[in-house]
Amino acid sequence: MNKQVLEGLNKQLNMEFASAYVYLAMSSYFESIDLEGFSDWFKVKAHEEMFHAMKIYDYIGDRRGKRDLSAIGLPVKTWKSPAAAAEDAYKHECKVSASIHNVIDIARQHKDHSTEAFLHWFVIEQIEEEAEADRILQKVKMVAENPGGMFMLDNYMAERAKVDAAKVGTESGGEEE
Ligand code: MG
Repeated sequence: MNKQVLEGLNKQLNMEFASAYVYLAMSSYFESIDLEGFSDWFKVKAHEEMFHAMKIYDYIGDRRGKRDLSAIGLPVKTWKSPAAAAEDAYKHECKVSASIHNVIDIARQHKDHSTEAFLHWFVIEQIEEEAEADRILQKVKMVAENPGGMFMLDNYMAERAKVDAAKVGTESGGEEE
């Protein structure tokens, strides 16, 4: 595999693991302010990011590339409000999308059609990730100053966490507890 393409993939591999950390930090934050539905949902998100990372990990191996496992950056661990955390989650997904697009650009430069085709799955996935994060952000903003609304939204997030956990289980071929 081309050196720059491999570098891009390794960077993306690290970013997916870092994303899992970002969402675990958010899960902990929401648990600390007794919004367990959000906490559960971000925990499922973290699991999903690990699945993304493993997809890249496997791909690098299939292409006989050298995996470069590097240090995972420290995540932000606290926020001033649920809206601030939700905003960060949305911005983070936009950053991930841009990073994937960048790796595709590199793959195109080097006519690496395999990597480009492999990364298409992530491009499509990111459309959903961004839309989902944005909808959650808008909902959090909607109820920001309304504890009753936040209580209801947290219950909604708990339900979503269950549905999404089942999906992650199917995607990774594993069983959710
Ligand atoms: Mg991801």
